[in-house]
This record gives sequence, C-alpha cells and structure tokens, in this order.
Amino acid sequence: MLNEGGCLCGNIRYSFSGEPLVTAVCHCRHCQKQGGSAFSVVCAVAADGFQQQGVTRVFDDIGDSGKKVARHFCPDCGSPIVSIAEAMPDFIIVKAGTLDGFAQFTPALEAYCDGRLPWIPALVGAQQFSRSNIGDDG
Ligand SMILES: [Zn+2]
Repeated sequence: MLNEGGCLCGNIRYSFSGEPLVTAVCHCRHCQKQGGSAFSVVCAVAADGFQQQGVTRVFDDIGDSGKKVARHFCPDCGSPIVSIAEAMPDFIIVKAGTLDGFAQFTPALEAYCDGRLPWIPALVGAQQFSRSNIGDDG
C-alpha cells in the first residue's frame, strides 16, 4: 500500500510504502510550538520506503535525549512535514495531519503525557507514556 501526503500549498508531496511502525500522539512542548496546536499526531515510517518531492526547510531542534531532531517544513506555507531524529535513524517521523488519508491512522500511543493540556482526556485504547515512548522526540 502506498500512502501519500503533502503540505497545505501543495509544493511538498511525499509518499511511503507499507504500514507505519506506529502512529502516536505527542504532547511535548516542541510539537505544540511547531504545530501551533495542542499536540501532534505522527507516524513513524521506514526511511527506505519514504520519498519526497519538493525541498523542505529544516530547523535543527534538540530532543529530550540531547540528540538532534531535524524538523522539516514547507518554506512556502509552513506546514510541518517530517522530523528526522538522530536517535531513530531508520525511521522518518511523518506529521500525520499532512497525510491524504489521515483519518485511517489511529494513534496506538500517547507520548509526553506530562505535557498534556488539562482539557484533553486520555485517548481511549491508546497506551500512555509520561515522556518519550520509542526513544525519539518526534
Ligand atoms: Zn507548502
């Protein structure tokens, strides 16, 4: 199965094959800042099945682990597209809100629940982690 997505203006498009390793909600402060919202939804996908058209700009962030997290975004419309964490080199962390088929990806876990806003209830059926889940800071 080929999954496709892209930014708001359409200048960045991407695809990946197969199922994500995991779909997760992240409540960390960095995701709140970058997305301008309460949390981010991300899919960790195999790096070797990921392809991108268009050139993103990159903000080199530092994750909780102290390692680099390259946050890629569209330079024209600002949509966050992917994060690439030094701690997780075999995976691309896709910002799931940019997926064409976003609704079909259900989060299996929530990371950084310590940062969860008080008006957001825990997601039923998802595993909750107070901080990181898979060793990254997507
Ligand atoms: Zn764009």
